[in-house]
This record gives sequence, C-alpha cells and structure tokens, in this order.
Amino acid sequence: MKKLALHWKILIGMTLGIIWALVSSSMGWSQFTINWIDPFGTIFINLLKLIAVPLVLFSIISGVANIGDPSSLGRMGGKTLGIYLVTTVMAISLGLLLVNVVKPGKLIDEQSRIDNRISYEIWADSQGYEIKDGINYLQDPAFFKRAQEISQLSNSELKEAAVADKMESVKNKKDTTPLQPLVDIVPSNFFYSLSSNGLMLQIIFFAVFFGVCLLFIPSEKSKPVLNLVDGVNEVFLKMVDVVMQAAPFFVFALLAGVVSKMAGDDIGKVVEIFKGLSWYSLTVLAGLLLMIFVIYPVILKLFVKKIPYSGFFKSMGPAQTLAFSTSSSAATLPVTMECVEQNLGVNKKVSSFVLPIGATVNMDGTSLYQAIAVIFLAQMHMIDLTIAQQVTVVLTATLASIGSAAVPSAGLVMLIIVLDSVGLNPAWIAIIFPVDRILDMFRTVVNVTGDATVCSIIADGEGMLDYKDHTNPTETFDLD
Ligand code: ASP
Repeated sequence: MKKLALHWKILIGMTLGIIWALVSSSMGWSQFTINWIDPFGTIFINLLKLIAVPLVLFSIISGVANIGDPSSLGRMGGKTLGIYLVTTVMAISLGLLLVNVVKPGKLIDEQSRIDNRISYEIWADSQGYEIKDGINYLQDPAFFKRAQEISQLSNSELKEAAVADKMESVKNKKDTTPLQPLVDIVPSNFFYSLSSNGLMLQIIFFAVFFGVCLLFIPSEKSKPVLNLVDGVNEVFLKMVDVVMQAAPFFVFALLAGVVSKMAGDDIGKVVEIFKGLSWYSLTVLAGLLLMIFVIYPVILKLFVKKIPYSGFFKSMGPAQTLAFSTSSSAATLPVTMECVEQNLGVNKKVSSFVLPIGATVNMDGTSLYQAIAVIFLAQMHMIDLTIAQQVTVVLTATLASIGSAAVPSAGLVMLIIVLDSVGLNPAWIAIIFPVDRILDMFRTVVNVTGDATVCSIIADGEGMLDYKDHTNPTETFDLD
C-alpha cells in the first residue's frame, strides 16, 4: 500500500482534533479535553522548541564556518537581509491595499462607530494627544452630547485604562536610547540568552560571530571543532525526524486543546466570536492566502525557474501544516530546514544560515496582519489615517515584525507598538483578541513559506539549489 505523505497525516490529525473538540464541547467534556489531551500538545511544542534553540546555534555556526570564504558570507548575508526586507514591505503594502479597498472597519454599524470615536477622543484627550486626522467630532453638539453620556457611563474604566497605558509607556521608555535595539542584540552572558525565551537574535549574533572566528583560526585547530558542531547538528536533525513520526497524534492533541479552550462547553461561542469580526478576519485571511498561493509562487517563478508550483507546495507541506498547528515559526524551524534541504534541494550551507535568521526576523504574515489590524481598528473608530501615518505603519510594522518572537501571539503583542506609533489606543488589541489565535495559525504559515521562498532564491543565486522533480515528501521523515 502506498504510504500517505506526512503532511496529509498531519492534516488528518488536525481535522480529527477539531472534530473531537466540537464533539466534546457539545457533550460538556471540554474540561476533560483540556486536562487530558491538551497537555500532549504542550509536550509537542516543548519538544520542538527544545530542538530549535540548539539547532539555530549549531546550524548557523556550521553554515558560516563551512562557507569557507568570508567574502561570499558577507555577500550572502547582505542578500538575505535585503530580500527579507523587500518581502516584508511587499506584504505590508498588500495588507494596506486590501484594508483600504475592503474597509472592514466601516462595515460595522454606524452607532457603534460613533460611540467608538467618542471614546477614542476622550482617550486621546486624556493622553494629551492631538487628534491626528484633523476631525474633532466632539465639536459637533450631537456628538458632544453622546460623549457626555458615554463618559458618565464609563468614566472610571476609561481613567483606569488611561493610567495603565501611561504606566506601560513610562515603563517601556525607561533606559532606552534610539540604539537600544542594537544593544539588545549583543549578549553580555551567552548562557542567559540560551536559557531565556525570545533572545534568538542574541543567539544568532553569537553563532555568526563564533562561525566567522572559526574561519580565521588554523585549520588543524578549527577542524575538530567544526566536526563536533556538524555532528551535534546531525543529532538534533535526527531528533526532529523522531519527533515528527508522532506529529499527527500531537497535532490532534494540540488542535483539540486550542478549540476546546475557545469553545468551552458551548460550540455556538466560536461562531459568535467570528460574527462581529468576520470582515476583518476575512480581509486578513485573503491577504495571507494571496501571499501563499500567488505572491510567493510568482516570486519563485520570476527568480527560481526550476521549482514548479505544485512541487513547492509538496515539498513544503510538512512545514506548512506544522506551522499552522503550532502557530510558531521557531518550533517549526527544524522541519522547515529539513523540507528546504531535502525536498527543495537547497544546499545546507545556505539553508543553515538563511532559515534560522528568517524564522527570527522575517515575518511577512505577521507584518501584513499588523497593517490590516491597525487600519481596521482606526476605521471602526472613525479615524482616517493620513498617508504619512500609513507610511509610519509600514515602518513600524516592519520593525515590529522583525522584533516579534517566533512564538504564538507575538504579533498581537507587537501590534501595541504599531498602534502607539500613530497615536491610537494600544488597549484596542483586546478587540481583535478573540480571533487572533486562528489568524495566528495562518500568518505563521506565511512566515514559514516566506522564509523558504527567500532561501530558494538565495540558494539559486549562489548556484546551490539542486531541485529534483521526483520529490517524495514521505521520504523526508522516514526512519527506515
Ligand atoms: N506566531 C507567529 C510566528 O511564530 C508570530 C506572530 O505573528 O504572532 O511566526
């Protein structure tokens, strides 16, 4: 009997997980699922993360040191960062285009938009902000009357929120200089970077530094170190194979847990959550699907002629399905590397350098979503952002996606910065929170697909892409 490809098995696991959660929710067993099935999903994520951090370290050292020639390393580094930046800006522009055409925030009923606008004006006033789009509705007597009603209703809540925001911004501004992001990349204690979450850039910095220095010491000294690094790298890759054998089961547990937590014992809740935010969710989804199925394939067609449309998706299937179920490009990284190397035929020298950096800094899905979210939130508060403000969104969404950790919901947290940059209320992330986990799954697929696309372009440019059309992804993770 023909063996089923791994990504199909993962998809089946995911579907069964969702069905299980819906059935268990309607039978009132959600707590059982959360107590007894969901933990296996957590174990899966832990295993993948356990592998990802050392894998980033060893694969970058080995990638850099195996390149051999420091000048080609510089060229590849420059190209990598440059192309990552271009794809991010493209994603944001697509997001802005969609949200300005669909206008999901304006499809909300007029009365709630008016109420939203008033509470925004009160909030902006409490922050000492000028109203940026120039229209101060409070000057209109009818608005003013309604504003007074609203402010009486929720004055204390508004004040509380304003105080909390102020404290947050004071906390964040403490001790920072414009060069702080640069300072944060250089670790003072490497073991601290390894053991803390979200310090992947420090690990990358150390690995590149170590790898480059390894290139410059005499070969009789560097050889044993490099052999050790390469060997350890292989062990971690084997760990990925072993863990992936059980992926379909783990993914079942993961999805059953996520959906059970959302639905509780009332499936209707999931539908309710979506109704209010459906236009917003659909706009984000449209953007993300366009990136996956149109933009990346077009880029590949233009720059890497060898990889056919279906071949790319067959090759990347396991990584994409895993990104969807884990919502974490860091956890998916080990599998992304396997798919890119073994199925797309990218030489390890390129992938071990380009992909770990991509997983950390290149998040096209996250930046596209942030652009749409900010404009949607502005629209539903009757705020029209000027062109200058939209350019600010492009800049801050680029930086925020670079700064986002490759873990679930990181993009939502970084959205605070983007909202803040155009004078909008960061607390609004609460509005889109209910649908965020699902959108997170899709944007993580885009993040991973984007990394693989850029990696193929760079490999092809360096003459290090050996794509073979008879790719059979089942073989990738076959132990026998
Ligand atoms: N979950 C995303 C990732 O890991 C980041 C985000 O957008 O929240 O790629």
